[in-house]
Amino acid sequence: MRLLLIEDDGPLARGLKTSLETQGYAVDWVALGKLGIESAARIDYQLVILDLGLPDLDGLEVLTKLKAHNATLPVLILTARNDINSKVTGLDQGADDYLAKPFDVAELMARLRVLERRNGTNTQTNIVVNNVVLNTQNNQLIVDGNEVSLSRKEYMVLRALMENLNRIQSKSSLEEKLYNWGEDVSSNTIEVYISNLRKRVPKDFIKTIRGVGYIIKN
Ligand code: CA
Repeated sequence: MRLLLIEDDGPLARGLKTSLETQGYAVDWVALGKLGIESAARIDYQLVILDLGLPDLDGLEVLTKLKAHNATLPVLILTARNDINSKVTGLDQGADDYLAKPFDVAELMARLRVLERRNGTNTQTNIVVNNVVLNTQNNQLIVDGNEVSLSRKEYMVLRALMENLNRIQSKSSLEEKLYNWGEDVSSNTIEVYISNLRKRVPKDFIKTIRGVGYIIKN
């Protein structure tokens, strides 16, 4: 999955690039709209993340040019939270989705997966953290190259943790996710799933942050 990131905020772009690469995207980053248009004309990207506030061109103009070149290219726009009008205009002009800054990286990843699914380009099925691979297509867990069996709920908890790499997930947020996925959860179940998962993944892969929640770090 090759993705073009058009964003002039260096620290944000570098952070995003790293996060996206962790999720298996190949990321080309440009800081100017003009370079974005040129890159998209040259390279067959599957996704574009476009910041609307660029130093050289209006982001909406960049959007129009990208879509004129390839109408089916999914574009997610990033905008400042107070710039509601641009968002609306952006969607009118063919943007596929938008996120207001500041945004949560996990939310961005989720939005990108939706765009990929919608466009049938979702080849991003593996979440990889060190020697642990979770395939989100067939719910398979591979540790050190060996398949490990998981229950459905264990899979969901592990997926929530791996998708939110380096971010603490509270017990209640994990419970909520399971609940949103249509699972029954009682108050002690998360501990049970975590304890079962720990028998299946490398030692210390899932860390407990006492009184706060759980985290997987790379
Ligand atoms: Ca900007």
